Formats: sequence, structure tokens, C-alpha cells
Amino acid sequence: MAGMKTMENVIVLVNRIQRACTVLGDHGGGDRASSLPTLWEALPSVAVVGGQSSGKSSVLESIVGRDFLPRGSGIVTRRPLVLQLHKTEEAVQEYAEFLHMPKRCFTDFALVRKEIQDETDRLTGKTKQISPIPIHLSIYSPHVVNLTLIDLPGLTKVAVEGQPESIVEDIENMVRSYVDKPNCLILAISPANQDIATSDAIKLARDVDPTGERTFGVLTKLDLMDKGTNALDILSFIEVLEGRSYRLQHPWVGIVNRSQADINRNVDMIIARQKEQEFFASSPEYSHLASRMGSEYLAKLLSQQLEAAIRARIPSITSLINKTIDELESEMDHLGRPIASDAGAQLYLILELCRAFDKIFKEHLDGGRPGGDRIYGVFDNQLPSALRKLPFDRHLSIENVKRVVSQADGYQPHLIAPEQGYRRLIESALSYFRGPAEASVDAVHSRLKELVRTSIGETQELKRFPTLRAELAAACYEALERFREDGRKTTLRLVDMEAAYLTAEFFRKLPQEVDKPGPGNPGTGNPSTPPVDRYTDAHFRRIATNVSAYIGMVSETLKNTIPKAVVHCQVREAKRSLLNYFYTQVGRKDAKQLAVLLDEDPALMERRQQCFKRLELYKSARDEIDAVSWTR
Ligand code: GDP
Ligand code: MG
Repeated sequence: MAGMKTMENVIVLVNRIQRACTVLGDHGGGDRASSLPTLWEALPSVAVVGGQSSGKSSVLESIVGRDFLPRGSGIVTRRPLVLQLHKTEEAVQEYAEFLHMPKRCFTDFALVRKEIQDETDRLTGKTKQISPIPIHLSIYSPHVVNLTLIDLPGLTKVAVEGQPESIVEDIENMVRSYVDKPNCLILAISPANQDIATSDAIKLARDVDPTGERTFGVLTKLDLMDKGTNALDILSFIEVLEGRSYRLQHPWVGIVNRSQADINRNVDMIIARQKEQEFFASSPEYSHLASRMGSEYLAKLLSQQLEAAIRARIPSITSLINKTIDELESEMDHLGRPIASDAGAQLYLILELCRAFDKIFKEHLDGGRPGGDRIYGVFDNQLPSALRKLPFDRHLSIENVKRVVSQADGYQPHLIAPEQGYRRLIESALSYFRGPAEASVDAVHSRLKELVRTSIGETQELKRFPTLRAELAAACYEALERFREDGRKTTLRLVDMEAAYLTAEFFRKLPQEVDKPGPGNPGTGNPSTPPVDRYTDAHFRRIATNVSAYIGMVSETLKNTIPKAVVHCQVREAKRSLLNYFYTQVGRKDAKQLAVLLDEDPALMERRQQCFKRLELYKSARDEIDAVSWTR
């Protein structure tokens, strides 16, 4: 009991998996572009091969018990036809369905034939050209066995008019692409009214299946054998052939296909049936073989063989399925799981994504990742060099000092430390420091911005959410802008503070000595030069020297304090509170706004959906196989 049950189960299993493949868009090689793994190709199939007009399409019709395939002389089958037979409950009316028009249910099989022709022409034009892209057809009937069969264009030896020279090779390659697969059973069709030694089918089968373990020899057109020909001749020839070079491990099957001579389908069928019976009855040589002749026998044999083939391959299919499930799972992990729909979960996800980003950003600043050191480059190189380049020489030239002091304090040569003049000179010199101060603030700002951009790019989890990425970036830039403003204010205040140090005490402490007239000094004793001018020049030079010393001191101080202010206001804040403002913003959003934030990249969503569907397919296949294995 278990045996029979299992047999049915296995064939139903593969049929179900195949149907699931079809529904879920796994058609084997055809969708290689998507690079999704295909289960279809791992499943056993049956392909019909043979020379042109050897009766391939007719064999399929005989198995189905229906006329629905384009038949005739010349090249009729010009695209592969993947034919899935599904056995239904007795009461169900037979119908057919094409994958390319899933909504339409065909009950008139003449229309099925027409649709195959039309669909062939749609790709190849009304020519004698061929196309490797298969047509998928399912037939649901209480009278069929569960089987998947593939009808293929016939092998030829020469191109006919309207065909490219390459057609002979093209057809052979196309046929080979099916029968090369080790899990493809081969129905090798040879017409009985031709010399079996020249059979294209056998030649090809011998090539791809040298041990003959997956090839089934089918003799068609037994009714057309010359009256004089003894059927035994053929059988004995086969024996010789097999004995010599190519031995099939399955018995040969003889068949009389339904003749195309009659217009009426029913009559056609009856005649074919009669012919079959008459043939076997009238051929005593064959009578002992009659029980293994005919289309019904062929159908049953095939389904049994297919079942055996499947059973033999279940372990490898199972391991392939498990391997693929792992691969798909890891791709899904990489793509990210589908997003929950409730606001709480969405908020949680957003915060988690933000934290992931923040962690990477901090690693950049703390030196775990590169880039943070460039901030310190601003303080080590850019700021000192900007300070060195400030034009104090020009500012403290004798002429300028003279001009400023004269304007501020009037002409008072006796005044050793002209306070107003000093103040103006120092204050205007200090204003030069604003430039390098602001430049440092801006340079650090743009490095921080760059690090935000880099970190967002490096946060894998964010990749799928372009909207969130954009908003997160905008919020970070906004925060950095605020830090910049604070940095600017603080550093400028540091500069201004240096002017506040100019106390009365400061002026009192300035060096008191003045140049005294003396013999070594050509300036004073010489009556030809006005003594006032000489005295004044030295005086102003001294003022310039004093101011310069002070400025130099300030410069040293600012070289240290500007970095402190910038780090305090910008770098430290970025580390501490870059996302604070964004968090409050996000916290205020309702479910709909959160969903918008989590809008995904459409291409990614599509890919995930595909992977998800394929994963479901593999999982259900695994479950089905598990269920069958248990009944064994
Ligand atoms: P294919 O090109 O291999 O698919 O061959 P077809 O199935 O189209 O058959 C070619 C021709 O041979 C058609 O006209 C069929 O009706 C005819 N034919 C096929 N099988 C038999 C058979 O067993 N007996 C007879 N008398 N004719 C057959
Ligand atoms: Mg055909």
C-alpha cells in the first residue's frame, strides 16, 4: 500500500512543485537575467526528440488523448513547448491554459492549437525560423497522468528555403540544451517506416546518454510499415543495434499515433484506437509485446519512469533546495527584512538605523575609521600657516604707525606710550585674526559634513531607505550648521577678548627707555637734520616693536585657543548631539509620516519581493518533499 501511495505522491509532488514554479515565475533558464536560483531546472523533465515529422508532436497528443498540437510535414514545431499535464477529479471538464495568457481558460482544443501557432508566429514571424523561448501550456484533465513533457523542433539535415544556413545547428543546439541535463528523460522518436540505423533521435541520445539509462526508444508509424516488412525485422534490428553499440536500459515502445487524415476528432480517435488494436492483433510477431505497446502504455510507463527518476534524485534535489534556501536567506538579510507596519516598530527601526549611522560617524571621529585626523590637520597646518601669513609687517610699517598714532594722540613727542595710538594699532591688528579664526571654523565644518556623508554611505542598513537617508543627512547638516555658528561666535569672541587685555597696567609696563642722543647715534647731535624727526622715527619704531611683540603673543595664544573653541563647539557637539534635533523631529511624526520616511528604493523592494517569492517556493518544496519522504 505504502509503495503505491508513495509513487503517486512523488509524481504529484513534482507536479505541484513544477506548478508552483510556473505560478511563481520560475521557468528555468529563461529568467537567467534575474540571477535568481531556479528550482525548475533541478526537477526531472521529459523531452521529445527526433527527426522532422517523425511523429514527436503526435506522440504527445497520443499521451494526452487530445488533438491540440500543430502537426504536419516540414518544420511545424518552431519553439519548445513545455506541456504540463495535471490530473484532475473525474467530474472536472478538461481545459488548457497558457502561461502567457493566464486568465484565459481553453476548452476548445482546436483553439489551443491555433494559439500555439499564433504565439510561435509572434516571436518568429510567419517564417520557417525557430526560437528557443518556450511556450508554457498546462492541460487539466481527469484522463491524463501527471507529467511534464517538452515538445521540441525536429532535427534536420539541411536548411530549406527561407531558413538561415545555421538552422540545422541551431535546432540541434536547442534540443541539446534540454537533453544535456542529466535529469532530463529522453523520448527518442523513430518512425518505423524509416531505417532505424539513420534515426536522428537515437544518434543524439547515444551522444548525450551513452549508457542509455534515461532514454526511451519510441517507434511511431507502426501502421505505415510496408505490408511485406515483418515487424520482427525491426525488433531484431534493434537487438542487433543494441548488441553492437547502443543499448537502452528501458524497453522500446511501439505506437500508432492518431492519424491526421480524418477531420473529425472523435472519428480520428476511434480509428486510431482501432488501428492500434488491429495492428497488434494482426501481428502475431508482436502479440507477445502488445501489452507493452500503445499510447496509454507509453503514458503510464513514462509516469512510472519519471517517478523513479525523481525518487532517485530526491536527495540531490533536497540538498540543492537547502543550499538555495540558505543563499536566499542571506540575500534577504542583506536586503533587509520587510518593514513592520505599526508606528512603534517603525520608530524603533528608524532609531536603530540612526544609531547605526551615529556609531560609524563616531568611529570616524575617534580614529576607528579614517577621516577624523583631517580635522586635526586644520589645527596643525592650516591655522598656523594662516596666522603666519597675516600682513602685520605692512600694518606696523613706520608710515602706518606714524599715521595711526598721530591721528589718535595728536603730535605729542613727549608721550612715551601714546595710549590711544597703541589701542588703535592693536585693535586693528587683532581684527586680522578674525579671518583665520573663521577659516578654521569653516574648514572643520566642511570636514564634519564630509564625514557625515561618508558615514551615511557606509551605513549598509540605510541603503534601502533613500528618503530616510536624505532626511537624516539634511538634519545632520542643519545641526552642523548650528555648531558652526556657535564655533564662529566663540572663536571671534576669543579674538575680541585679546583686546580687552589692554589695561592701564599694560601701558605702564611697556618699556620706558627712549633713545638718548649720543656720539654713536648720528641722529641727535647733527644740526643739519631736524632733531624732532629723528627722535620721532625711533619712537615709532619702538611702538611698532612693542605692538608686534604683543601681536605675536596673541597669535601664539590663539593658535592654541581657537582649536579648543572649535573642538568644543563643533567636534564635541557633533559627537554628543548630532542627532538630538532629528530625534525630536522623528518623535513628533505620526504613523503615516514615519512610513514615508521608510519608503524604500523601488528596485530593492522589487528584488526583495522576487527573492521572497522564490524563497517561499523553495520552502514549500522542502515541506512537500519532507511530507513525501515520511510516507516512504
Ligand atoms: P513531428 O514533426 O515529429 O512533430 O511530427 P508530427 O507529429 O507533426 O507528425 C508528422 C506527420 O506524421 C503528421 O502528418 C502526422 O499525422 C503523421 N503521423 C505521426 N504519427 C503517425 C503514425 O503513427 N501513423 C501515421 N499514419 N501517421 C503518423
Ligand atoms: Mg512537431
